[in-house]
Amino acid sequence: MGHSEKMKSVTSNASADALVRFEDVKKSYDGANFVVTGLNLSVRRGEFLTMLGPSGSGKTTTLMMLGGFERPTLGRILLDGKPVERLPPEKRNIGFVFQNYALFPHMTVAENVAFPLRYRGIKGAAAAVKVRQALDRVSLGNLGGRRPAQLSGGQQQRVALARALVFEPSLVLMDEPLGALDKQLREHMQVEIKRLQVSLGITMVYVTHDQSEALTMSDRIAVFHDGHIQQLAEPEMLYKRPSNRFVASFIGENNTLACSLLAREGEVAVVRMPDGTVLKGLGHGLTGGTHDVSLSVRPESLTLASGEPRESGNRIVGEAHEVFFLGDHMRLSIKAFGSQVLIARIPTREARHFAPGERVALDCGVADCQLLEA
Ligand code: ADP
Ligand code: MG
Repeated sequence: MGHSEKMKSVTSNASADALVRFEDVKKSYDGANFVVTGLNLSVRRGEFLTMLGPSGSGKTTTLMMLGGFERPTLGRILLDGKPVERLPPEKRNIGFVFQNYALFPHMTVAENVAFPLRYRGIKGAAAAVKVRQALDRVSLGNLGGRRPAQLSGGQQQRVALARALVFEPSLVLMDEPLGALDKQLREHMQVEIKRLQVSLGITMVYVTHDQSEALTMSDRIAVFHDGHIQQLAEPEMLYKRPSNRFVASFIGENNTLACSLLAREGEVAVVRMPDGTVLKGLGHGLTGGTHDVSLSVRPESLTLASGEPRESGNRIVGEAHEVFFLGDHMRLSIKAFGSQVLIARIPTREARHFAPGERVALDCGVADCQLLEA
């Protein structure tokens, strides 16, 4: 099966099995400026989908519209095939963990977790059983009697998680739930939330501005910028085949080099660097003839050259600029192609010393070079 055929079958499955669909959704708060500008997105049943983007890109607004706390200005949102724009939040059967997780300080942990059940008319022994199960699920079984102020940040976060799961929703939304935690706890909770999502079989729509969090947890990532999706793909695809410069620079580190397109040979494009060096890369998204483009290559894709250039690869020659030793790797910046600076990440076992100004030759594969519109 060819690559494009495979993509097509996945896409058609997705729309048949979509739990959530955004159709041309737009949102303006002031009636003049749109902060979500034409959103089309299907969320598959059982998947972990992350909305990743910088602050102000419209992630929270999108989540609030799905949760029922904001109304779209234009367009439709379908849940299980039915339009929900007019349904209030409690009629949507969606669990929600807000950006600041908003626990009620005057209630105990158990009362906090029971709150969504009261809303849904579940009381007494039936409620107690569900609260108990939800607290056990997040390893807080014995802390039901405490108040939020008597818990650590990580424990409070777990209470918010239990409260979102207690009524067994099929869809859970989380808005930067780990933002307040320190790095170690955040990484621990990423794994814990991902395990819960898989074991409970719930569909998750998760918001973060942290790309490594998105890469760790997600089945698919929608990269947001300026109120719309720049690219929607699996983490590995997003990393290896960014479709534009914004995605290339937002996910991981990338060298972005100015060059001009000379020719296309199938999916391979040939470019000329400012100093005349000719390189090749993948040019899936490029259109038109000769014009200015940019070449994007990751620091870890550059290796120290040995021997003659490989016929099928690219050779980049420059001079060492700065060298930093970082334990497992060396970070080497070189000046090449006239005035451009690029970074190479060389594993320590392959590295050697470079004096500033020394000639450096680097190799990289054609498939590791992405040509994108400038
Ligand atoms: P993100 O979650 O990606 O940081 P938001 O959805 O919170 O983005 O915000 C998108 C844009 O909408 C921002 O410019 C923000 O200032 C604006 N915005 C968000 N909420 C409101 C609101 N309640 N009223 C007016 N403007 C808002
Ligand atoms: Mg936000």
